[in-house]
Amino acid sequence: MENELTRNIILIALGVLFLFAVFMILKPSKKHPLDEDQSDTSEHESETKPCPYCGEEILSIAIKCKHCRTSLKKKKPKVGIIVGLIIALALAALVALEYFPSLMGSKESSLENSAIPLVTDILHEQLGYSTDCIAISIDKEVAENHYRATAYLNNGSDIIIMIELRGDKIAVTIPNQ
Ligand SMILES: [Zn+2]
Repeated sequence: MENELTRNIILIALGVLFLFAVFMILKPSKKHPLDEDQSDTSEHESETKPCPYCGEEILSIAIKCKHCRTSLKKKKPKVGIIVGLIIALALAALVALEYFPSLMGSKESSLENSAIPLVTDILHEQLGYSTDCIAISIDKEVAENHYRATAYLNNGSDIIIMIELRGDKIAVTIPNQ
């Protein structure tokens, strides 16, 4: 439950981040003052403009000032890279979240489901009860691959059980209650 809440919060945060990234791409980017000069002059009549760094007259299509050698390249690609990175990260995180936590979650729930018939077997064959286990809920991982869980029985009671995962085999023990 706690994990699910955390996961939902992270998913929502990532969704917002993703929308923000899309918004950044779609919105007309605020032009660098330099870019404005460039497009203004190149789109209109004049073929030269003053270099924004040294003031010398240069060609409006120049990518480097011939006087002060300052690069006049547009800064846009950088923004594109950052936005691209944000989107890539958001997507990667979304994919990771979509698979990893659900894998972790399904590991526990498959453990719970697999342990149900084992608990029923122990109740019947070792303890001589006729009650069946109908559900199991893992409470805590007490050690690596060792879980304490609550087993719910069809007579309305519940018992504490221990589940141990050895490779892909599951061992269930029922401590004295
Ligand atoms: Zn210059």
